[in-house]
Amino acid sequence: MKNNTKEVLVPSHKLWPLFRKKLEDTLFTYTNNKIHNRCNGDLTITIEILKSMESIDIKETVILFKELGGSCDCKISANVARIWNNR
Ligand SMILES: [Zn+2]
Repeated sequence: MKNNTKEVLVPSHKLWPLFRKKLEDTLFTYTNNKIHNRCNGDLTITIEILKSMESIDIKETVILFKELGGSCDCKISANVARIWNNR
């Protein structure tokens, strides 16, 4: 029961809206009406969220995100979501 029941989190996946909301809630914080981007230039936040989603294949999902221009947390929010009609 390892890996073969896991899925890649494409933006048509039912968990994508939940993932995107968690990502953006964690990534962007507001102080005095200014937006702060907590991205460290890597996928730390993305991977943390994916780890909380039991049915997701993290390795394959990260490969897909990178192919779609999501090389760091904020680029997933910007690039991957936009490619898929901003879902
Ligand atoms: Zn970034």
